[in-house]
Amino acid sequence: MAPPRAAFLAPAGGRGLAPTAAAAAALRRLSAFTGGGAAASRGFAARCARQGGRSLLCSPWTVAPPAPPAARRGVRMAATGGGGGGTVGFLGLGIMGGPMASNLALTAGRRVVVWNRSPDKAEALAAAVAAAAKAAGSGDGGGGGDAPAPGEIVLAGSPAEVVAACDITYAMLSTPAAADAVYHGAAGGALAAIAPGKALVDCSTFDVATSTATAAAVAARGGRFLEAPVSGSKVPAETGTLVFLAAGDRSLYEEVGGDLDAMGKRAFYLGAVGAGTRMKLVVNTTMITVLSALAEAIALTEATDGADAVAALHEVLAQGAMANPMYALKGPKMAAGAKAYAPNFPLEHAQKDLRFTLALAEEATVPMPVAAATNALFVAAKARGLGRDDFCAVVEALRP
Ligand code: NAP
Repeated sequence: MAPPRAAFLAPAGGRGLAPTAAAAAALRRLSAFTGGGAAASRGFAARCARQGGRSLLCSPWTVAPPAPPAARRGVRMAATGGGGGGTVGFLGLGIMGGPMASNLALTAGRRVVVWNRSPDKAEALAAAVAAAAKAAGSGDGGGGGDAPAPGEIVLAGSPAEVVAACDITYAMLSTPAAADAVYHGAAGGALAAIAPGKALVDCSTFDVATSTATAAAVAARGGRFLEAPVSGSKVPAETGTLVFLAAGDRSLYEEVGGDLDAMGKRAFYLGAVGAGTRMKLVVNTTMITVLSALAEAIALTEATDGADAVAALHEVLAQGAMANPMYALKGPKMAAGAKAYAPNFPLEHAQKDLRFTLALAEEATVPMPVAAATNALFVAAKARGLGRDDFCAVVEALRP
């Protein structure tokens, strides 16, 4: 395995908008797209300043990432290609794909040709990015330093139209069934437009078989393929701090470095197609099982000592070796219950990942009893209708 490459995003001093009144106004408009309220957007200017103003589509209510370590500031993930203008495609504008595409437009300055099954998401994204780009143009920073001018979102009529218009197309789709529809669909499937000179970068979390089959189909048409699933959820997608787990065509990985730079804080090149998927499944399964352990702790504490004792549980955990950002983020939401389950990571996607991990484990003859029990819990949660809630809603499957 090649050693991981260090990567960072914003050059010292940041790029993009200075936090002007125009920027704040644009954010109020953007908050309608991202779901935040006007009150939540009022703190944007301060957060934008802390972030160096690097992404206008950061949710106004999310916590900005810490400033980059000085040693890594301005270091790009790849010396070649990507970012700073040009056209790329994007298929799938859900919780993750929408903000990733917006970062390609607003941070990398790309013209992003997009397609989404539900066109309203594509239309809302195009409007939000146009508003942000306009605000950037009228701001006093105007994308200063070495920042590229903001790009735009352009709507296409089918996945094939996207690929036909772009040499490089990104995808962020939910399941292998979605990939089948989007890549192989009878009318306008993306694969139909793949030809020499075209490339597909699939950031979705699938199983190895799906990724390998897509790679073979792309290669059969003379194209290049990179699997690049991501670690990180809705907020890292918005703030451009995802971690890419890439595998496949190495030259393509080098070429898209600037784009990964705009969407993420770090990228790993892991080898042949399948290696990125395997790493993603192992990492997610670790996270989901650990989250499930907290769900059990909360349910037991509620049952034995009452709901009021759960706050103390969180405080006790925060003092010890089990303190971690996910517990700090999800613990209070799990304690709060149904009203706090707006999805950052839909529960049904977490269960999909567990299912893929267990299939991989069986193939490798590795027993994974913890993952298997967790999968059963997630299946039960799905049966209760919690599939489109955040995965922390799994605690509901443990409550009486
Ligand atoms: P999402 O919000 O459910 O979005 C899924 C996307 O796939 C949407 O664009 C959706 O289109 C499209 N899609 C689904 N079925 C389709 C079909 N039959 N035909 C065409 N398009 C279809 O999911 P997400 O959270 O963005 O996740 C996307 C991928 O990233 C998943 O593989 C997930 O496991 C992975 N991931 C998610 C997170 C996270 O925290 N959310 C983190 C890391 C990785 P519509 O808009 O029309 O429904």
